[in-house]
Amino acid sequence: MVWERLITKLWMAVTVCTVLTVSCALDTTPDAGTLDAVYANSSEELQVLSLGQGQTLGLLLGGIVSANDQAALLLAFREYANPRRMRAGTEVVFRYLRADQWLRGLDVVVSPDETVRLTRNEFGWHSDLIRAPIYVDTLLASGEIETVLWSAIINNEDLEDVPFEDRNSLIDELDQVFQWQVDFSRQIRVGDTYRFAFEREVRPDGSMRTGRLLSAELMNSGTPYHAIWFDPNDDGEGSYFDLEGNSVRRAFLLKPLAYRRISSRYSNSRLHPILGTWRAHRGVDYAADVGAEIMATSDGVVIHRAWKGTFGNTVEIQHPNGFVTRYAHLSRFRSDVQLGTRVKQSEIIGYVGMSGQATGSHLHYEMMKRNGEHMDPLAVDLPAGDPVPSDDQVRWGEEMITRVDLLESIPGAGPVRRADALQSLDDKHGGAR
Ligand SMILES: [Zn+2]
Repeated sequence: MVWERLITKLWMAVTVCTVLTVSCALDTTPDAGTLDAVYANSSEELQVLSLGQGQTLGLLLGGIVSANDQAALLLAFREYANPRRMRAGTEVVFRYLRADQWLRGLDVVVSPDETVRLTRNEFGWHSDLIRAPIYVDTLLASGEIETVLWSAIINNEDLEDVPFEDRNSLIDELDQVFQWQVDFSRQIRVGDTYRFAFEREVRPDGSMRTGRLLSAELMNSGTPYHAIWFDPNDDGEGSYFDLEGNSVRRAFLLKPLAYRRISSRYSNSRLHPILGTWRAHRGVDYAADVGAEIMATSDGVVIHRAWKGTFGNTVEIQHPNGFVTRYAHLSRFRSDVQLGTRVKQSEIIGYVGMSGQATGSHLHYEMMKRNGEHMDPLAVDLPAGDPVPSDDQVRWGEEMITRVDLLESIPGAGPVRRADALQSLDDKHGGAR
C-alpha cells in the first residue's frame, strides 16, 4: 500500500530526528546537516501502531511479541512511564531489521516531547528516554484589524508556519498582557494595529513547547499601548511594563472572561454596536458558551453566592476600595468559592450559563461603587501596579530598548514611540545617562 509506505517513511524521518537529539544533546551543537546521512541508512523497517480506546501497551504488545518479550518490554518501559496509563492514539513504532525481520526495538511516543525507546541487548530489553530536539526562535508579527482581533492573528501571514493551536495561544498571551488596558472584545476597532515579538521553544513538527511574549504594541483608537517583559531576577517571575517602566497591572481586569471564550458575534463592535453598549442595562453582557470560566476581576471577598431573581445564579464580590462586582446567569458556582471566601484577581469563581432570565448563554457583569452607583468598567481609571524598582532601572532601560528594537525590526511597522520613554528614564537618573 502506498499509504503505508508513506507513513513508514514519515515515521523514519521522525525517528531519525529523535535519534539525532541524543547526539545533538551530547555535542550541544544541533546540526541538521547530518540528517541526510542517517536518513539514507534504511536497514530498518518500521511498523506503526497506535493504542485503541482503553487499550494498554501490554495488550497491544501481546498481539505481536512473545509472552517473555512482552513482560520484559513492559518492565523496561516502566522505568519511564506507566504502560497502563496511556492515551488512546499513542503511537508505538516497531523497528525491524530489514534483512531478517528481526524486532530490534520499539519507540513509544509518550508525549510530544518524550519517546521511550526500547532496544534489545544480550540481556533482554533496555529502555531510554529520548527528548525531542527543540530550538528557540522569536516570532515577529504585525497587522491591522479588519474585523476582529482573533481573525487578524489567526490569518496573519507572518504566522503562517505557526500551527493553528499555537496562534490561538498567542491570542491568549496578548489578551493576558493587555487585560488591564484594553477589552479585546469591546474596544478593538477596525483599523487598530498591533505588533509583537514572541520567543518560543519549537519542536521538530513546528509546534510550540513553551513561549513568552517579549514585547507588544497595540494601537487602539489612536492610543498606543505597550507591554515589555522584564524579569530582573531571571527566575521567570517577571512582569510587563510600558515604555515608561510602569506596570501594566491594575486593581481591576477590564473583563471577567478570557477574550477567546467570548463569542465573536458580540465582540465585533462594527457589526453589533448596540450589544456592547454598557449603559443600556447597567452592565455588560458577554456571550460565551456554557461552562466558560469566569474570573474575579479584582481581589475581594464573596458577599453573595446564591440565586438572585432574574439574575439567576449570582456571585457578588466586595473589593477593598469600595467597589462591588456582580457576575450573573451562572450555570454553576465554583465549589470552593463560598460566601465569605477571599478571592484573588483572575481566580475562577464560577462558570457561564443562562440561569435566571436569560435568552442565551452569557455572562452579565456589573461594577458598582459603594453608594450603589453603576459604572462602566472601561471608564474606571485606576492606578497602575508597582513600577520597575529603582535598583533595576539601568538593566530595565537596556532590555526595554532591545525588546522595542525587535518591534521596530518588523518590516513596515515604523518606529515605536520611544523618545518619551528614554526621556523619562533620563529624568529618573537625574539626567546622568
Ligand atoms: Zn445583562
